[in-house]
Order: sequence, then structure tokens, then C-alpha cells
Amino acid sequence: MNLAVVLYTSDLRLHDHPPLRAALSSSEQVVPLFVRDPAVAAPPNRLAFLADCLADLDDGLRARGGRLVVRSGDPVAETVSLVREADADEVHMAGGVSAYAHAREDRLRAALEAEGRRLHVHDSVITALAPGAVLPAGSDHFAVFTPYHRRWTEQPLRATAPAPRGGVRVPDAVRSDPLPERAAVTGTSPGLARGGEGEARRLLARWLRSGLDGYPQNHDDLAGDATSRLSPHLHFGTLSPTEAVHRARAAGGPGAEAFVRQLCWRDFHHQVLAARPAAATRDYRARGDRWRTGPAAEEEIRAWKEGRTGYPVVDAAMRQLAHEGWMHNRGRLLTASFLTKTLYVDWRVGARHFMDLLVDGDLANNQLNWQWVAGTGTDTRPNRVLNPVRQGLRHDPDGGYVHRWIPELAGLPAPRVHEPWRLPAPERARYDYPDPVVELADGLDRFRRGREEGAG
Ligand code: FAD
Repeated sequence: MNLAVVLYTSDLRLHDHPPLRAALSSSEQVVPLFVRDPAVAAPPNRLAFLADCLADLDDGLRARGGRLVVRSGDPVAETVSLVREADADEVHMAGGVSAYAHAREDRLRAALEAEGRRLHVHDSVITALAPGAVLPAGSDHFAVFTPYHRRWTEQPLRATAPAPRGGVRVPDAVRSDPLPERAAVTGTSPGLARGGEGEARRLLARWLRSGLDGYPQNHDDLAGDATSRLSPHLHFGTLSPTEAVHRARAAGGPGAEAFVRQLCWRDFHHQVLAARPAAATRDYRARGDRWRTGPAAEEEIRAWKEGRTGYPVVDAAMRQLAHEGWMHNRGRLLTASFLTKTLYVDWRVGARHFMDLLVDGDLANNQLNWQWVAGTGTDTRPNRVLNPVRQGLRHDPDGGYVHRWIPELAGLPAPRVHEPWRLPAPERARYDYPDPVVELADGLDRFRRGREEGAG
């Protein structure tokens, strides 16, 4: 009787899952496997979310006659050992993007071939369009978003596949470690979202019904919180990006293409990272920055992380990150700009902090967005600086976002809530809130001088 293993990584779903479908059509028995890999850093928020995803996937597989097999260790060694135990003929998995994922595929392919077994790597599972599916003339990736978006939009996406109705059969003799439990994870953010494919599908359906139409007008409204919040599900693969694109387009209306454009940004960063894996840690385009270090910078970094820079909209966003393990996109842009352009601190410091906390923390999206904001990435205007006061006035005009996250300023109405240091001293004394860590003009000056000296 032939048997296939489906190795799950960042694709923890049953709907629209080409590796699972291929395994089911080629084999009488299918063993879905997830390997807990100690080499992949999983801070508490993502670990807790992952536990939800695995539990939900296991439930779905059990409803279809199977179960999820969980092992811990090196994914290549564990997969090969399962292949031997179960006498599997082939392994199916989704193609990854990072250098680590590519090396894992290569090692697994070689190890399986040595055993006379085959590895099938499926494209367009983790991204809608596979990295490299569209290319500019003479290069191995697009370095600018707009032409990528044009080509991406012209490209037909594969049709989505429904979840299998049944037929997942795992031999009884195949052992599994216990599933990790969310309740056993300590140090998570108190307002962390729930994971799992069921939750992803509920969120998507609600978003298409009642969020999508307002997306073009409301996506930057910090207090309105009117984005899809699907990012952790796209990161863990509990939602297929291909399905999200098809269903948004089918829903139509004014928000569909604006939302699909954001999903294209996700593919864009993935194709950059696939072609330039070093961009996870090194400047994609070095600008000669001489980032600040030393005790004063350390103190400012601490204030930034703890949400006490004295700039209310920056602090509100940093506190949202700590509380939810998630931050609004506008908050990510303005806090990253504040760290890199106003405090003039290395983008890697901020990217690491975000990766420690974000439930959607994703190597491609996080590192390349950080580089975009820092001006070392793909932004065609690398010197743009977001002024936190203007950002607050524009994207939190009523101060609702600041009031939600900074209760110390709850009694101070907008627009004054965005510049509390301007209050007359007696009134200022009523608010237990810090003075700005740096004057904006001084911050800007540091950035300009540092970059000019470095470039010169
Ligand atoms: P929506 O506005 O509903 O967008 C839908 C989906 O499109 C998102 O879920 C996401 O998958 C994708 N998307 C939206 N904006 C971007 C973008 N700029 N780049 C790539 N994909 C995008 N996103 C992550 O998924 N993981 C990260 O680690 C991450 N780190 C970031 C760090 C910085 C400094 C910045 C500026 C942005 C970062 N983003 C990251 C991108 C973006 O902020 C989030 O994807 C978005 O806020 C998630 O909220 P949402 O699902 O409600 O987005």
C-alpha cells in the first residue's frame, strides 16, 4: 500500500492546500507531519498562536479520518525517520522563501533521494504567486513595487482547491508527540488573538462582509482599527493568500483591489527575500548609515520599546504591540520611522523587537518593511521621514487611539493630546506622562548628518 507524508511548515490548513491534495490523489495513506524545529525561533506570542493552529489542524484531520503527527527536532532527520518507519514513498511540502527554508528543502531532497524516495515541493502555497513567477528583464527579482504590482496583477492565479472531505489515513503504529498547549506557554501578550484555520475563515468571511468596502477610506485610521487583522493567519498559513485574493475579487466593491494590493505587497517582499536572503540581516541598499549607539541611544531605545518616548502616537502604538502582539500598519510605519529616522537607531534593533512580540512576525515582511522605512530597502524615496505629530493629527484626529493606549492622557482632548509638551506648565503637571526623548528638529538633524557623513 503506498503512503505519502505531507510535511507542514507555514501552511497550517486544509483548504486550498496543494501538497495535501496531491498526496491524497497519489497515495492510499497520508501522514500529515509537523516538526517542532528548535532552530526556528518562536517567542511566546507566536508559540501560543501556533499551538491553536496545530490543535485546529489536528481536529480537522481527525474529522477526515486522520490526525496530525507532531515530532520535535531537525525537520529533515525527523521526516526521514518517519518515512522509514511508515515506509513512505514520497513527501509533499510547500516551497519556502527564506535561506533556511531553501536549505531545508535541499537537505530533505538529498536525504530522501538517498533512500530512493521523492520530495515534491509545491509552489503558490505560502504566497499567491511564487517568487520568480514574474521577473523584470535581466534581474532575478523586482526591486520596485509598482512594476511588480502591474505584472503580478496581469498574472492569472491558480484556482483554489476545496478542503478534502476525508480519506486521510494514518497507520496506527505511527507515533506522535503530544500537541503543544497554548495554556502552557508563558509570557504571552494579554490581548493575543486566537489562532487556527477555523478562526481564519471566520475572520475572512466577516472581513469580506463588513470591512472590505470601507478599506480604501479607513485603512489608515488608527482608532478605527479597520484593517482585516488577517496577518497572523497569512503568516501561519491558516489562510491561503490565493483564496484571499479570489474571494476579495469575487466580493468586489471599492475595497477589493486596495486589499488585494496589500496581499501583493506581501508577495513582493517574499520575492525580494527569496532572491536576496541576506536582506534578512544586511542592508538591501547600504546608504552608509552610522547608526547611533552608546548609553544615550540605549536609553532612547528602552523608552521606545516601553512606549514612553513622550510622543503619544508612537507610545500608543508601542503599547498596542506589547498588549496584543500586533500593531496597526500605520503604527508600524510611524514607530519604525521614529526609531530609524528620528532617533537614528539601526533598523535591526527595531526589527528584532518586533520579531520578539509580533504574532505575525515574518522574516520577509518584517525585515523588508523595516528596511523600507529605514531607507535601506526598496523605498524609492529613502530619505522620507514621518513626523509623529503630523502622523497623530492626520491618522488619529480625535485622539481615540492615544486615549485607548495611554490612559494617563485620557482627559486631554485632540489635537492637544498629540503635543502635550506644549501645554502651559500647570496644566502639563496634571498628566503623568514623560517629556519627549528628543526634539524633532534635533532628531532630523542627527539623521541627515549621520547619513551625509556616512555617504561622504
Ligand atoms: P491589512 O491591511 O488587512 O492587509 C492584508 C494583508 O496584506 C496583511 O494581513 C498582510 O499579509 C499583507 N500586507 C499588508 N501590508 C503589507 C506590507 N506593508 N508588507 C507586506 N504585507 C502586507 N506584516 C506581517 O505580516 N508581518 C510582519 O512581521 C510585519 N512587520 C512589519 C514591520 C514594519 C516596520 C512595517 C511598516 C510593516 C510590517 N508588516 C508586517 C506589514 C503590515 O504592517 C502588516 O501586514 C499589517 O499591518 C497587518 O494587518 P492586517 O492583516 O490587518 O493588514
